[in-house]
Amino acid sequence: MQKTDVVVIGAGAAGLFCAAEAARRGRKVVVMDHAKRIGGKILMSGGGRCNFTNMYASHENYLSANPHYCKSALSRYTQWDFISLVAANGIAYHEKTLGQLFCDDSAKQIVDLLLDECKRAGAQIIARCEIQQVEKDTSGFRLETSQGSWQCESLVVATGGLSMPKLGASPFGYKLAEQFGLSVLPTRAGLVPFTLHEEDKQVLAELSGIAVDCTASNDEASFKEALLFTHRGLSGPAVLQISSYWQPGQAVHFDLSPNLSLHDFLQQAQQAQPDAQLSTILSQHYPKRLIQIALPYFGLTNKPMKQYQGKQLQQVAEAFNDWAVKPNGTEGYRTAEVTLGGVNTDHLSSKTMMSKDVEGLFFIGEVVDVTGWLGGYNFQWAWSSGWVAGQNC
Ligand SMILES: Cc1cc2nc3c(=O)[nH]c(=O)nc-3n(C[C@H](O)[C@H](O)[C@H](O)COP(=O)(O)OP(=O)(O)OC[C@H]3O[C@@H](n4cnc5c(N)ncnc54)[C@H](O)[C@@H]3O)c2cc1C
Repeated sequence: MQKTDVVVIGAGAAGLFCAAEAARRGRKVVVMDHAKRIGGKILMSGGGRCNFTNMYASHENYLSANPHYCKSALSRYTQWDFISLVAANGIAYHEKTLGQLFCDDSAKQIVDLLLDECKRAGAQIIARCEIQQVEKDTSGFRLETSQGSWQCESLVVATGGLSMPKLGASPFGYKLAEQFGLSVLPTRAGLVPFTLHEEDKQVLAELSGIAVDCTASNDEASFKEALLFTHRGLSGPAVLQISSYWQPGQAVHFDLSPNLSLHDFLQQAQQAQPDAQLSTILSQHYPKRLIQIALPYFGLTNKPMKQYQGKQLQQVAEAFNDWAVKPNGTEGYRTAEVTLGGVNTDHLSSKTMMSKDVEGLFFIGEVVDVTGWLGGYNFQWAWSSGWVAGQNC
């Protein structure tokens, strides 16, 4: 039986960050992960450049049954703290859009930063380690693993969500929570593309590869970002964002003219170019292919502008301003960036991330029912919750 102060299960963003912090406090820390390769998800993140935080991160950018839970951690270890760390490590970065910060060079720099922090602080990382059993006794936790038996005072669960099973995702953290009496809120894929019903798919697949600005909204949220048509359905940042607020059977509304009053534009065009076809006028704002497909799809006829009555022009504008789509579903965990739901925060202390009932048991990162928007918010939650647990485990 090997003894240590802290075992962190999961060497992802939250686990590694927590391990480095705890080790810096003088705790003897071991991080265990069943994956062969450490940091696989971080390497893939942000298209290989890791959108490591967001300058505007606040609790308002997170979904959770308890929207207040994440406030404390986010305010104790902020985006500015992580940005300072990135800068201190000589990693060049830039804002892509909407406060989203990416490495100039490669996501590998963030993995290296985390591994260096662990190494410097003395946290040990064990890869290819299967956790077979976890039990609690009076002195702490006992773990049976494929790499021997371990005993520790504090156990930090940082096993993430269910998205991307290829990268090592597993329901381990949820099962462990339930084993210790903590409830788990229903999980579902978030930040995920929509699939379409066959009749929509057949028509819209022809637009595959086209991106347009839009506002995607439903009763709960609204996002002004790009919409991307794919051969499977709808994707792009606007779709990923609204997918986290979508429930099966609901419609999503797309305003395909978020920056311009289309009705005013069409009225002006009618005055200025009465003989021009509607499709020619709309092509000034949209890709030609989109117009070719969209007009018949929306049931609109294409004729010279002078032939439209006022009400008809309004109908054209409305078709583009409020395109309501009922997705068939989502692409699921295979491509989802995150998992919504997870360990119920009612059982956890927002000041320490420790279970209120099980002394020494901590849950951090995505395994917890805190899910960020697209744009660096999920990594910031991993850093903030990992840092807080690292001070307390
Ligand atoms: C393709 C992709 C791109 C993304 N890009 C971004 C981005 O740019 N910005 C952003 O903010 N967020 C991004 N995200 C989301 C972000 O990666 C996650 O929210 C974040 O990694 C969660 O950190 P975590 O440490 O909680 O979990 P993870 O990083 O998922 O780490 C969990 C770790 O636990 C290990 N594990 C799981 N089960 C077991 C087990 N049974 N035994 C041992 N180990 C186990 C896994 O192998 C993994 O190493 C992206 C996600 C994906 C899938």
